[in-house]
Amino acid sequence: MARRKKIYEGKAKILYEGPEPGTFIQYFKDDATAFNAQKKATIEGKGVLNNRLSEYFMTGLTNIGVPNHFIRRVNMREQLIRQVEIVPLEVIVRNFAAGSIAKRLGMEEGTPLPRPIVEYSYKNDALGDPMVSEEYIIAFGWATQQDLDDIVSLALRVNDFLSGVFYGVGIKLIDFKIEIGRIWDGDFMRLIVADEISPDSCRLWDIKTGEKLDKDVFRRDLGNLTDAYSEVARRLGVLPAQTTHLTKPTLIN
Ligand code: 5GP
Repeated sequence: MARRKKIYEGKAKILYEGPEPGTFIQYFKDDATAFNAQKKATIEGKGVLNNRLSEYFMTGLTNIGVPNHFIRRVNMREQLIRQVEIVPLEVIVRNFAAGSIAKRLGMEEGTPLPRPIVEYSYKNDALGDPMVSEEYIIAFGWATQQDLDDIVSLALRVNDFLSGVFYGVGIKLIDFKIEIGRIWDGDFMRLIVADEISPDSCRLWDIKTGEKLDKDVFRRDLGNLTDAYSEVARRLGVLPAQTTHLTKPTLIN
C-alpha cells in the first residue's frame, strides 16, 4: 500500500499531501511543547480536542466572512485544509497583559490594555521566535505594507469574533496567536487565516474565577491540560455538557 506523503512535521501538527491539488491534510498530535520545545510532553486527547476546536472556530469565522484555510474535518485527528504559503510571522493580538508583554513591561497579568494590541514574531525556532516590528517585516520582505494592513484587519476581526464567542461562555480572551497564509488565484494573491485556533495558541481565563483554561496550564504546571481543554469544548457545546472527567474526549458528532 502506498504511504501518503508527509509535507511537514511541526511540534503539534503534521501536514500530509491532500486528496486534491491545493489541499493538505492537517493531523493534530498529542504532543505539547513550551519554551521553544525545552519542555515537552505527550498529553492524551489534546490532538483530538484541538482538531475539533479549531474546526469550530474556523467554521465560525467562515460564517462571518473571515477567509481561512479550513475545508472540512476528516476524522478525530485530521482536517482537510487549503494549501497556503505561510507568512513567516506569528501574529499576536492582546486584550489584557499576560505572558511576554507583562514580563517585558513589568505589568501585572490581567491588566486591561487601552486597546487591542497587534504584534509580530518572526517564525524561527532556532531564534526563539523573536518579536519584530513592521519596519523589519517590510525591510526583509516577509510582507508588504498592504499585506500588513490586511493582516491587522484579519487579526482584529478574529479578535472580535473570538472575544464574543468566549465571553458568551464565561471565558475572557486574554490574547492569542494566529498565522496567515497566502493563496494565489491566477495573478491575484489573498491572505487568509491558517494553522490552527485552539487553546494551544490562546490565553483563556474563566471570567468568574480567573482559572486558566489554556496552554499555560502545561507551561506553568497548573493541572491537567486535557481537563482544561475539555472544559472549553464543553462550554462551547463541542463536548457533551454532562461529562465530568474525560481522559479520552468523546465528540458530539
Ligand atoms: P506571549 O508572547 O505572551 O508568550 O504569547 C502571546 C500569545 O500567543 C499566547 O496566547 C500564546 O499562547 C501565543 N503564542 C505565542 N507564541 C506561540 C507559539 O510559538 N506557539 C503557540 N501555539 N502559541 C504561541
